[in-house]
Amino acid sequence: MEPLKVGDRRVLERHEFPALFRALEGKGYRVVGPTVRDGAIVYDYLSGVDDLPIGWTDRQGGGTYRLERRNDRALFGYTVGPFAWKKFLYPPRERLWTANRTADSFVVTPEPTQGPPLAFFGMRACELAGVAIQDRVFLGGPVVDPGYAARRRRVLRIAVQCGQAGATCFCASMGTGPGVRAGGADIILTELLNGHRHHFLVEVGTPEGADVLAGVPLEPPAEDDNSRAQALVSATAASMGRTMNTDGIHDLLMKNLDHPRWEIVAKRCLSCTNCTMVCPTCFCSNQEEVPNLSVDTVERWRRWDSCFNLGLTEMHGQAVRKSGLSRYRQWLTHKLATWHDQFGTSGCVGCGRCITWCPVGIDLTEEVAAIRTAPTAPATSEAKT
Ligand code: SF4
Ligand code: SF4
Repeated sequence: MEPLKVGDRRVLERHEFPALFRALEGKGYRVVGPTVRDGAIVYDYLSGVDDLPIGWTDRQGGGTYRLERRNDRALFGYTVGPFAWKKFLYPPRERLWTANRTADSFVVTPEPTQGPPLAFFGMRACELAGVAIQDRVFLGGPVVDPGYAARRRRVLRIAVQCGQAGATCFCASMGTGPGVRAGGADIILTELLNGHRHHFLVEVGTPEGADVLAGVPLEPPAEDDNSRAQALVSATAASMGRTMNTDGIHDLLMKNLDHPRWEIVAKRCLSCTNCTMVCPTCFCSNQEEVPNLSVDTVERWRRWDSCFNLGLTEMHGQAVRKSGLSRYRQWLTHKLATWHDQFGTSGCVGCGRCITWCPVGIDLTEEVAAIRTAPTAPATSEAKT
């Protein structure tokens, strides 16, 4: 058979699916993907196909998440869980360097950045967009984050096109999904279940993907496999649980910084930081120095932080954003407005995690719609803090 090329499509039967795992391991990849743990579908290291959430689905809503059994044996019959891939590229807690005292100075040793190549198995379209946004943050500026860069170089992306939308999903509004654009991942899968037949349409996204697939038993697709995959993605796009009108959203939000809606949402917001922890694009962090008891060694650690924490903006003993109102407004306007000024894209990919995992069900699509329905006059330059 001719070698696979980028853009080629083939079929992988369900009973041959373990061969894809073996091919990845044969190329030296450690596979990370979805699995059921603690009542949720999370991303973790997988040892084989049986670790996938076979026959499970998730039911999500504002502030709610439940796993339920499906009436089939789908491998990817759910949407997205509480973990984004960022925890593998940008760990929640990471040592950056260690300094050791010498006789008359000190020596700083950066943290080593080597590690095994990882195969991110089961990435959704919105998640690929989330990683692309973090790439811009950590790699696209004048200072490149060395740890992120090293980990990102070692990742192979195996995407799955979504066959169902969750009640909090709105990637179609954000232009990030549910279909994966050609070449948007190294390998793109679409799961097709049809009565007794269970198979996958496999698209080669990059030469690295072709290299892995060379060791997998693939067949040419049937005539209707492509149209069925397309129909599945279109049906998913049409059944998004949420929508967001993004027309002129930058100016809409920035001209309504004193809108009464901010007061209403601030009364509900607990400043718990959940929305920022689960968000695939949020990147705020804090650094702390940790000395040993004899003070001859000190380590610098970075850990995730949140714009909902008072300490994030503390200067000279005072927080800049003292009120919950100002912190929620900062989060929302950064995501949807000033992120465009800073990075040239939206900071939201429409995954819906911040709605599902907000303990009081605050929903950014509702907040934007409320401001759009009754905008106030353009704000003064003195916004409330
Ligand atoms: S803001 Fe909410 S919906 Fe948008 S990417 Fe972050 S978690 Fe997902
Ligand atoms: S919006 Fe919800 S998840 Fe975010 S800080 Fe407020 S209460 Fe927590």
